[in-house]
Amino acid sequence: MPKVHNWQIGREMAYPYKAAFPRRQFAFVFNTNRCIACQSCTMACKSTWTFNKGQEQMWWANVETKPYGGYPQFWDVKILDLLEKANAGNQRWSGKPSADSKRPYGQFDGQTIFEAQKMLTPDSARVLGYLPSDEEWNSPNIYEDNPVGKKGVRYEFDKTGVELPEHKTWFFYLARICNHCSYPACLAACPRQAIYKRPEDGIVLIDQKECRGYRKCVEACPYKKSMYRGNTRVSEKCIACYPRVEGKDPETKGQPMETRCMTACIGQIRMQGLVKMNRDGAWAEDRYHPLYYLVHVAKVALPLYPQFGTEPNGYYIPPRWVPRDYLRQMFGPGVDEAIERYANPDRELLAVLQLFRRSNRIISRYQIKEGPKVYEATLRGKKITLYNDTVIAYGQDGKEIFRTTVEEPLHVRPAQHANSI
Ligand code: SF4
Ligand code: SF4
Repeated sequence: MPKVHNWQIGREMAYPYKAAFPRRQFAFVFNTNRCIACQSCTMACKSTWTFNKGQEQMWWANVETKPYGGYPQFWDVKILDLLEKANAGNQRWSGKPSADSKRPYGQFDGQTIFEAQKMLTPDSARVLGYLPSDEEWNSPNIYEDNPVGKKGVRYEFDKTGVELPEHKTWFFYLARICNHCSYPACLAACPRQAIYKRPEDGIVLIDQKECRGYRKCVEACPYKKSMYRGNTRVSEKCIACYPRVEGKDPETKGQPMETRCMTACIGQIRMQGLVKMNRDGAWAEDRYHPLYYLVHVAKVALPLYPQFGTEPNGYYIPPRWVPRDYLRQMFGPGVDEAIERYANPDRELLAVLQLFRRSNRIISRYQIKEGPKVYEATLRGKKITLYNDTVIAYGQDGKEIFRTTVEEPLHVRPAQHANSI
């Protein structure tokens, strides 16, 4: 198998095809600290793309309650189990997070789904995976808000309900879509080469005419974001709302627009964009691109299960209240620094966090104009100072999209107005 460099795991890895990178890559950051599981994103996607006959169990965008919820059920536990069986006791990271852009989180020394060949089934394509059962796809929202499993029983829940003793337990909401991976497992596994990654934006698509419904992509995707449709007998997946990303929506007059799930987000946790890529697959330095800043400068946003090896392009600001071991397994070794920085944001981070969901348009650059000091205090032993800076967002055409301030603007309506009683 050819070798490719995967910067998220800090090393070369085996992948069935030679590396090829798009000019720009579809990417997103989700702030899990803010998700309220309102499912507006889920329904925005459903009502746009998967409302037809045969798509009843298909949810390209979903929000699950961790640690026990999942769509399909137990998707991450199952693939982690398979990897552990293939390489027992060795699924570990070495080194430390550092400024080295080729291995910012250290190095993953275990096996990825492309390398754990010991477990591959004879007729499987080149990726370790499994096919979820129909039952596992049935309930996208199973055990929402449920913080505990059935004591001592794996893959089980207490069907009679559970008590929630204050402060003794935890859960959080994990919003998910296809990660439009740099090394997609779905693409690697397809025997018909019906899956492709677009050179202009890295969006991963299934050619519906070429697909014969072998479901190798469903088996291979570790995130289980490729799905089989029974009545058409082909597989389907998130298409990253590509007409919007291409600027085809009449509302934006040719300028790129974020996806439906992003723009519907009530909790304002989501930001999506297009990042510039170097020819070697690293993100090109783009200091004032908000996604580049959050992932590579502030390093508050981390990839989901980087150890799987697909180099996912979805990044998450980890939830502060969840046990660190769990988070390190899910987001890699960068968790502690990410939470520390998010909990004690500096002036720039605080300003960039205001960019989330102020517009439907894709932001290509930001600029900060300094404002006055508005607050000073000592919190958890640390001195914090807030400035009411203004952050300005620019689009792909270089024109300003909007500007906003760190302090939320307060509008006081006149006592007498159209709706006065
Ligand atoms: S998340 Fe899954 S379906 Fe999406 S590109 Fe990656 S491997 Fe393919
Ligand atoms: S719309 Fe936003 S806040 Fe609501 S569930 Fe989706 S990601 Fe979470």
